[in-house]
Amino acid sequence: MTQEQVLTHHNLLPTYARQDVTWVEGDGAWLVDSNGKRYLDLLGGIAVVGLGHRHPAPLAAAHAQLDRLWHTSNLYYTEPMLELAAKLSDRFGGADAFFCNSGAESIEAALKWARKATGRAGLVALEGSFHGRTIGALSVTGQPAKRTPFEPLVPGASFATPDTLGDHVGPDTAAILLEVVQGEGGVHPLSSETLAEARALADEHGSLLIFDEVQTGVGRCGSFFAWERVGVKPDALTLAKGLANGLPIGALLVAHDAPTAFEPGDHASTFGGNPVSCAAACAVVDTIDGALLAHVRELSDRFTGALPDARGLGLLLAVDVDGPAGPYVDAAFSKGVVVGTAGPSTLRLTPPLTLSADEADLAIATLTEVLG
Ligand code: PLP
Repeated sequence: MTQEQVLTHHNLLPTYARQDVTWVEGDGAWLVDSNGKRYLDLLGGIAVVGLGHRHPAPLAAAHAQLDRLWHTSNLYYTEPMLELAAKLSDRFGGADAFFCNSGAESIEAALKWARKATGRAGLVALEGSFHGRTIGALSVTGQPAKRTPFEPLVPGASFATPDTLGDHVGPDTAAILLEVVQGEGGVHPLSSETLAEARALADEHGSLLIFDEVQTGVGRCGSFFAWERVGVKPDALTLAKGLANGLPIGALLVAHDAPTAFEPGDHASTFGGNPVSCAAACAVVDTIDGALLAHVRELSDRFTGALPDARGLGLLLAVDVDGPAGPYVDAAFSKGVVVGTAGPSTLRLTPPLTLSADEADLAIATLTEVLG
């Protein structure tokens, strides 16, 4: 096959409805396609490229680590893994980490941890939630259309609404699993009352409270962890997406005052804690300081002030549209702005946290035109 045939007759299973564009380069909040056209990236690889494309800090850290050591297995320690665990523990206020390679894997680790720690099988999640596509993570994803074709799934999951949480949590509940802001399910922030009630229910029944911060964490919502903005602290949380600014990584963080539960042999991941991803992630964590978090909150106000129907927390934002979202995505794209969706009639904005005020204004002007 010629190079042209490779690129036009692609050999990929059709799991994604991809837009007909091939990206070749990224620079800050900008993407360049194979025709050389530049686009303002308000999707950030779906809340992954938090510091922007080719940010110098993770880029330099990953380059240096590539030149030093790529992989050793988890039979040994590496410096980047230990440093990242220490940095995340400091940010959390005392926690131990298990490293893996994706959001769904971090959920798998969390579910196994909760079952081992409590000796219980029950898992309570919310209707409309999204926790990933592996069989375990899908089993606690509250979207029947995604689950049904793959049933039977893992038993023990039940789905509540914020109002019915109390009816679902009981003596068999290992864990309550929540997103502080439901991301894929349409960008719906949970109220601080719901989160506080979940904390109280977990404490009352001896269950564990786990926050899925795969999308909300690492500065996305204007604090390092989204739970800091609502003041309800979980027993454990999961991270992935923005942690290494685009290199694959996932993490389960377990609070020091929660049970450790895992013993050698209970769980593993060949690539988990990869030195290059962990080195990049260390640089990401170091870069997310108070000034950048204040910038995220300011930009969030700028978007929600200018787009009256926008909702969300920090730079995890959404706007509902009339009818299917696809034509609005295409209209923005034709004007050089990349946006995503979260549900059939919702546009999702998850730009780099480093988007400048001028870039935000450009984005707002284009979106205002597109939304009519
Ligand atoms: N949890 C949440 C909240 C997510 O938003 C996602 C992905 O969008 C996942 C888990 C799954 O992450 P991954 O696609 O890395 O497996």
